[in-house]
Amino acid sequence: MTPDLLAHALDYAATGWHVFPCHTPIERDGTTICSCSKGAACPEKTQGKHPRTIKGLTDATRDPEQIRKWWTMWPTANIGGIPASANLIAFDLDTDAALATAMTARVHDPDEHPWVQAAALAVFDSVIAACAQQWGLPSPTGCP
Ligand SMILES: [Zn+2]
Repeated sequence: MTPDLLAHALDYAATGWHVFPCHTPIERDGTTICSCSKGAACPEKTQGKHPRTIKGLTDATRDPEQIRKWWTMWPTANIGGIPASANLIAFDLDTDAALATAMTARVHDPDEHPWVQAAALAVFDSVIAACAQQWGLPSPTGCP
């Protein structure tokens, strides 16, 4: 069953998120390609994660009419969202490199990374420590 992405986009907007349509990963002959013009040449880590509109995330909106237009035009578009629009902070620590960058920023150079300063540091530390524990990495200095 195909998820009703329009309904989900409208739900996110109703809760305060500004959303925008992103491309879609497509399974073809056992391979995943991107719905963008690059297709199979789109880098794997960005497939289905980049915006479909020209202005990208600056097009993000809570306007239900615009959201309906986008998801009527692209019913399988992934939903991009701006966490700050709903007073949220996102931690994208889905790779060892991302975790290492977050640890380095927190422990060694927090003043250079305003996104660390904006976060509630206790929450930030526990997220990093939980990820480190899950991946069997040592907890960084300064983290619980
Ligand atoms: Zn692409």
